[in-house]
Amino acid sequence: MKDALADLRLAFVGAGQIGGSLLLRARQVFPNAKIAVSDPAIAPLQNAAVADVVSADWAAIVGDAEIIVIAAPLAAAIELAPKILAATSGVVLDVGSVKTPLHTAAAFHPRFVGGHPMFGSEGQGFGVANAALVVDAPFVLTTTPETAAASRDLADAFVRGLGAVPVHRSPEEHDAEIARVSHLPQLAAWALALAVGSDPHVTELSGPGLRDTTRLAASPPEMWAPLFVANAVNVSDAVDALIAALARIKDAIDDAPRLQKDLALARTTKRSWPLVRAGRLADRVNESQTGAMLSEIVRRRAAGEHIAPLHVGEPRLPLSPAIEAIVREALAAAPIAYTETKGTLELRAQVAKIASRVTGVAHTADEAIVTSGAKQALHLALASILAPGDEVLVAQPAWVSFAELVRLAGGRPVPVETQRDAGLDPDAFAAALTSHTRAAILNTPNNPTGAVYSAAALDAVLALFARYDLWLISDELYRAFVFQGAHVSPLSRYPIARDRGVFIDGIAKSHAMTGLRVGWATGPRGVIDRMVRLASHETSCASSVSQHTALALLERFPDGDSGLVAAVAARRATVLASGLKSGPMQGAFYAWIDLGGRSSREVAAALLSAGVATMPGAAFGREGFLRVAYAVDDTTLAEALEIVREGTI
Ligand code: PMP
Repeated sequence: MKDALADLRLAFVGAGQIGGSLLLRARQVFPNAKIAVSDPAIAPLQNAAVADVVSADWAAIVGDAEIIVIAAPLAAAIELAPKILAATSGVVLDVGSVKTPLHTAAAFHPRFVGGHPMFGSEGQGFGVANAALVVDAPFVLTTTPETAAASRDLADAFVRGLGAVPVHRSPEEHDAEIARVSHLPQLAAWALALAVGSDPHVTELSGPGLRDTTRLAASPPEMWAPLFVANAVNVSDAVDALIAALARIKDAIDDAPRLQKDLALARTTKRSWPLVRAGRLADRVNESQTGAMLSEIVRRRAAGEHIAPLHVGEPRLPLSPAIEAIVREALAAAPIAYTETKGTLELRAQVAKIASRVTGVAHTADEAIVTSGAKQALHLALASILAPGDEVLVAQPAWVSFAELVRLAGGRPVPVETQRDAGLDPDAFAAALTSHTRAAILNTPNNPTGAVYSAAALDAVLALFARYDLWLISDELYRAFVFQGAHVSPLSRYPIARDRGVFIDGIAKSHAMTGLRVGWATGPRGVIDRMVRLASHETSCASSVSQHTALALLERFPDGDSGLVAAVAARRATVLASGLKSGPMQGAFYAWIDLGGRSSREVAAALLSAGVATMPGAAFGREGFLRVAYAVDDTTLAEALEIVREGTI
């Protein structure tokens, strides 16, 4: 994402605590961006990181920028935004102000995007919605009680600065108007989506006065100076959201002429606000970082580089001859025709049998769906369980796709920093529960840590989940690869698994059949039926060729290729003997290496340049670690481990 923005001319203008904090991080993330601090009050507080950029001359700095990010309290933003809009032809993204007037203005200025990472509870997009109510008026400003007295004058000034006329409405009129609009939620969603991506909640920013910009502006700098520095560390989520928002705006720049026309149409027709379309589903989701790594490797290989594939979530080892033979034969004889959406009856019966045995919950063929890979099973399950805004607990660090698949289904992933070594901390889960929590995802054996959860470790968290009737989505794709302890299906310990459990499995890892794209889910009939409904319009069915082959495989080898597993075990021993400082390595085929606080992205980039592809821990939500997939041939492994060891000490 960041690289995609490399060719954008960016400028940051900041004031106040939030602004100062974001600017500190912006300096690190976008070293080429121009940065200005417009607020003399924070000048004395600068540390070395931004001392060189303190400048009141923001106008010169924003000069020819295409995107200008303002991170400042309301008062400062109100002063800055119109001037910046007048001085440049760039798009202005306000990420620092919470209150409604700026968002109202945002709806009326095609180059102004308002929003704040903490937007959730305060602004609610009402400003945008209200503006849209009277689209033929030059401007409507609704003052809610909380913004009324302190910010009205400032907001008026801002509105006039945009060349529009402010109109005030009482809170009662405001409510009455809101009741009249049916498209309000989309408008709010638009404001949120465009401003900060689909996941706007940043709860880490905290401190006295932070949610009250008026009070903050009036408070002495000594009060918030420490927060200014502290938040520079805490705002990394906000910066990620910002990066995502910038990418979308880059997109919107191309759309700008069209948006102007839409605006004119909306004014004459009073139809619903056209910019709603900016909240595209695809924009909620970030590209898979493992997928991006694969593309990077393909590019490097095409350029003649030799890259050892220790990044990849698939065994790169020969199959057992018996399995190889089954696959070749089945592929040759496979029918090439649609199957039922949920998969052939024979294959569903087979996977239901496997699921019943592994989870201890009896399932029939009608409580199973065969999908194009386990990934699709996860997607369909989440889309069938979640309503928009539902929260899903994800044990962190976690496989890259869990959070994105939750977003794709309209939910909100809640990372639970729980996994240390092989543990699952029930207190961490308890602390993350809210009235919106609907489901939890567990993955054992675990990608990326290599942990295998014991029954005891599972029981404590499952008791908690059961108390709140949570759906448990149990990804057991690596169940064939257990080298220490035994595989325990979380569903086998979940008291309400029958009604609230979904089992996810497949042949990608256990049989090294990643490219066949066959996975499956079992669960309560209601969920499976919904999944089938979705899939019927999406893929129609998993590949008939692959289903036929999977059935042949699973009939003979329901739990994986034991020869392959033995080969992986031998590689594991090699890694253990190499002296790499890895996590538990109880299962799956990943070493999870502690980098002693070093940046995982930097280490992974250096290793890639040295010819070894790995995955940075940051991709899985934990900095300071590196994931090394060790299921590769002996020679590759030996050479690569040497390089990894040197690069990670
Ligand atoms: N779950 C986990 C934990 C995984 O690691 C992967 C693959 N990396 C998948 C699901 C997706 O598997 P499939 O190829 O069957 O879609």
